[in-house]
Amino acid sequence: MLQTMNHMWINGEKVGLQNTIDVINPANGKVIDHVPNAGKSETKLAVDAASEAFKTWSKLPPKERSKFLLKWADHLLNNRDELALILTEEQGKPLSESKGEIEGSAEFIQWYAEEGKRIYGEVIPGSSEEQRITVLRQPVGVCGMITPWNFPGAMIARKVAPALATGCTVVLKPASQTPRIAIAMFEQLIATGIPSGVANIVTGNPKMIGEALFEDERVRKISFTGSTNIGKQLMKQAADQVKRISLELGGNAPAIVFPDADLDKAAEAIVGNKFENCGQMCNGINVIFAHEEIQADLTEKVISLVQELQVGDGKDPVQLGPLVNDDAVKNVERLVNDAKQKGAELLIGGERLKDGSYASGSYYAPTVLSNVTLNMDLTKEEIFGPVAPILPFKEEEEVLQFSKQNQCGLAAYFFTRDIGRVYRLAEQLDVGMVGVNGTQLSVPQAPFGGIKESGMGREGGHYGLEEFLEVKYISLTLENE
Ligand code: NAP
Repeated sequence: MLQTMNHMWINGEKVGLQNTIDVINPANGKVIDHVPNAGKSETKLAVDAASEAFKTWSKLPPKERSKFLLKWADHLLNNRDELALILTEEQGKPLSESKGEIEGSAEFIQWYAEEGKRIYGEVIPGSSEEQRITVLRQPVGVCGMITPWNFPGAMIARKVAPALATGCTVVLKPASQTPRIAIAMFEQLIATGIPSGVANIVTGNPKMIGEALFEDERVRKISFTGSTNIGKQLMKQAADQVKRISLELGGNAPAIVFPDADLDKAAEAIVGNKFENCGQMCNGINVIFAHEEIQADLTEKVISLVQELQVGDGKDPVQLGPLVNDDAVKNVERLVNDAKQKGAELLIGGERLKDGSYASGSYYAPTVLSNVTLNMDLTKEEIFGPVAPILPFKEEEEVLQFSKQNQCGLAAYFFTRDIGRVYRLAEQLDVGMVGVNGTQLSVPQAPFGGIKESGMGREGGHYGLEEFLEVKYISLTLENE
């Protein structure tokens, strides 16, 4: 087993606790480690440290802050294989995906290390001869961050890097399913020699840690990624102190395939996205709308790609690991059963894998369903599993209606060669991100995020820095000479 991570990082020091939570490997159900089960008092210590560190970190020139971020990225890349193993062991995804996630995290950090040098203010003409207006952009202060288990490395990089680049200090609470990769990434950050207290991590009781962050007036911003239900709850908590909050929440992305699309490329892109991370992706395709003229062809192509997918322990050369835990498998079973009862046709998969080496893990077979209709629960909820439901459609208007009626508005994908349709549809879809003829959305320079119940705020690009900056304007009245 890898070295234990039974400690948090508070004020640059390792802090362990007697009271711990188990970390479980979803590939085999075994306990791999224990991490501190912290609550309010430990969170307060972390906020004390972050608040003290803010006084000096926020004053450092951006190029000095940048050096720590660049070193952090280097450390992550140099330790990529070990970090990927830590990630796979607690999250389940294949090692190749975990390595990609560590590399992607380093890329985000490098990008923000540079972008932090370009936080500019503004000079605005005054309203009188004597008035001079200057706009400053200043770091908001101590930031509380709460991250999910599905991309437990990337979500940290996407929040912590822009916050540190602006001069903010942070207290992070990672998901209890995947705390080890968070602790390990912080270890690499602390190893850069970053001043004590700038970056703190607290693991444990989500409600207690959350309350401690929201109740503390020194915490001026919360950045949350997770489920829509918890996001809504946190938004209410933020209201008490009018605390700034950004929310990256759930999605229900359609992939829409028109008859003029390159069907081979569309099928490849759809299967690649749908089954990445075992289908546990916020911007993952939830439902596939296939135009009735090409539905049969597309379905055949999707099936032949899905048949190739190997499922197993993420440490083996597989394309799909286990789901994150047993509850996730039960949820997928519920959604597939509901669809079958309402008339969906099962084309492949459709069951929990439980024989042999699958017995003690939480595995579900890659699944494709056709004859899906919009009264089925899996078209209304995030499936968060390896299930591809295919729905036929005739008119563009039908998919636009789906998007308008959808409570979520994170992402949508469509495949067509009609340039008129590209703009018409992209402009009308009710989402924060549109992928046309491809599904890659999460890159450091672009604003990742959703509308409606998928959240508010953006991660990536200069938009990601704005989340951690306040605007202040100074009006100077010149005195007569
Ligand atoms: P979750 O249950 O909402 O948990 C997310 C984080 O919130 C975890 O760290 C969790 O801690 C913490 N938490 C739970 N209850 C809390 C409370 N009362 N106060 C403060 N914190 C609390 O979500 P998840 O199941 O981990 O993640 C999957 C969801 O994240 C999906 O809906 C997915 O779509 C969404 N997601 C969105 C994006 C995006 O960019 N839009 C990206 C990735 C994931 P514990 O782990 O200790 O319970």
